Amino acid sequence: MSEQVLRHDKHCRLCGSSRIVTILHLNDTPLEDQFVSQEKKSVVQPSYPLELAICEYCGYVFLPHIVNPEASYADYVYVSALTVGLRNHYDQYAKEIADNFGTVEGSLVIDLGSNDGSMLASFKQLGMKVVGVEPANSIATQANESGLTTINGFFTDEVTQQILDEHGSASVVTANYMYANVDDVIGFTKNVAKLLAPDGIFVVQTGYHPEQMKIKMFDYIYHEHFSYFTVEVLKKLFSACGMELIDAQKTAPKGGSIRVIGQLKNGKRIIDSSVERIITEEQHAGMRKIEIYQKFALELAELKRQLLDRLNQLKRAGKKIAGFGASHSTTTLLYHFEAAPFIEYLVDDNEIKQGLYSPGYHLPVYSSQKLYDDAPDYVVILAWQHQDSITTKHQKYLAGGGHWIIPLPQLNLL
Ligand SMILES: [Zn+2]
Repeated sequence: MSEQVLRHDKHCRLCGSSRIVTILHLNDTPLEDQFVSQEKKSVVQPSYPLELAICEYCGYVFLPHIVNPEASYADYVYVSALTVGLRNHYDQYAKEIADNFGTVEGSLVIDLGSNDGSMLASFKQLGMKVVGVEPANSIATQANESGLTTINGFFTDEVTQQILDEHGSASVVTANYMYANVDDVIGFTKNVAKLLAPDGIFVVQTGYHPEQMKIKMFDYIYHEHFSYFTVEVLKKLFSACGMELIDAQKTAPKGGSIRVIGQLKNGKRIIDSSVERIITEEQHAGMRKIEIYQKFALELAELKRQLLDRLNQLKRAGKKIAGFGASHSTTTLLYHFEAAPFIEYLVDDNEIKQGLYSPGYHLPVYSSQKLYDDAPDYVVILAWQHQDSITTKHQKYLAGGGHWIIPLPQLNLL
């Protein structure tokens, strides 16, 4: 693994302005998804500053402290087919894009950060040629073995040229929940523009903080997530890279997402009214105002106080407390709310995390069977966005006398 280098950007990564203001200061946190094995448990994991900053000039919201992205990706284990329901989601997504934007059968679709190739498989079914780009070696190998051509690496200038040489230009380039994880987003987007055929489109699906903030979802902030985009900023970003934003839609996943479409400047498609409509909404919501984020920080501080008061009470009463969820989001939540000292262990249904130890605090992660074998008095649902599926699946835990603590969007005990 490469050395974990910390870089502190004092200029906006999009426009170069030095008018940068910190808008949210979370507690220092280790790399949120670096769950470690028993052997590495004795090694102290470093924590890094976790802040959000805004560029007052262009409105870009981003992490000013960047940990070497190669270090972040080294132990990358997320495989999308593991996430229940995504298969259907991709089929529908691919069909919508092909139908709405007239993608011709046999034309080239490129998925950046293609993971196990789930999205590519959906396009292949529709008769497209497909190529993926995926930095995680084991996942890229797996995709190639299942017949989905995947280049193992980051989307660099060289990989861009390789695709053009070997496959030609693309009618569709997609980036699903990875665009916000790109460090040099300008260079990346310029390479996308190079890949596009004259009538090609670039489709980005990414988390959308104006919606996520409404449900107090601050735990989408983590070190691998460099950018927090608004449609206003995406429009400027595309424009700086030879493209224009032609469509924007809010979508449901991850507590609030957006899907935007770009084409080369002066392309054949008409710019949809959705672009200006959502930008106006963002202006009305004050997404460029520092006060909005200060208010958010105060709301989080109050939620944290309420949770810690309750956990203190329970601990004093001798109750055993566990946590449900082992992901980058739960690490951010545990660190910022300082709840880890009250929690004995974590459970998660993701087998990849079971048997490992949480970043920094090294709380052991077990399967959810532990809730029945050990019967902890209280379980904090750290993966609170999935509270409905967790409480439904584990009704037996509640029926057996257990209690749920749901920390967000407001403290709730069941
Ligand atoms: Zn800027």
